[in-house]
Amino acid sequence: MSAEAYRWRCACCDKEFVGLPTDLAFDAPVNPDALDEIAQSTFRKNDDFCVVSYATGQTDRFIRCLLPLPVPRLSDEFCFGVWMSVSERSWNVYRDGYDSGQYEDELCFGYLMHDIPEYPSSMHLHANVVFQPGNMRPRVFLHDADHPLVVAQRDGVDVTQVMRWVALTHRPEV
Ligand SMILES: [Zn+2]
Repeated sequence: MSAEAYRWRCACCDKEFVGLPTDLAFDAPVNPDALDEIAQSTFRKNDDFCVVSYATGQTDRFIRCLLPLPVPRLSDEFCFGVWMSVSERSWNVYRDGYDSGQYEDELCFGYLMHDIPEYPSSMHLHANVVFQPGNMRPRVFLHDADHPLVVAQRDGVDVTQVMRWVALTHRPEV
């Protein structure tokens, strides 16, 4: 069964749909409204890059990536669009290769910047961020750790979990 052909009932609106969405994206790695005035004035974000500098002199750099989780029953994967915190060097490697799809390094280290719903906090989980050819976003592979999200990436998630995630952000058409 493919995600495209899957019939499901949404928990938020109780409507039945054909075709289960296979991705869900987070907006930003930090909430700009929660930053102080100085940090807010340095906050820059586009679809793939985000940077913020603090009064302390610290600068945080983030890149937009995909966190794939296999869904064995759909022989498909569900991807969270996530922001990863990366070093200045890694940020530059990604930026420099962004247009050509040719990267100086194959991968870099990053910290996950989100809590995945219905899981214990996954903030700052460690991961490899693997750069991809073309215009595809880098893929995130969590380091081995005693965390259910690491198990989910290794063993897969149930389709009922995917339905609950999708229902959380479903915007029914009116
Ligand atoms: Zn709904």
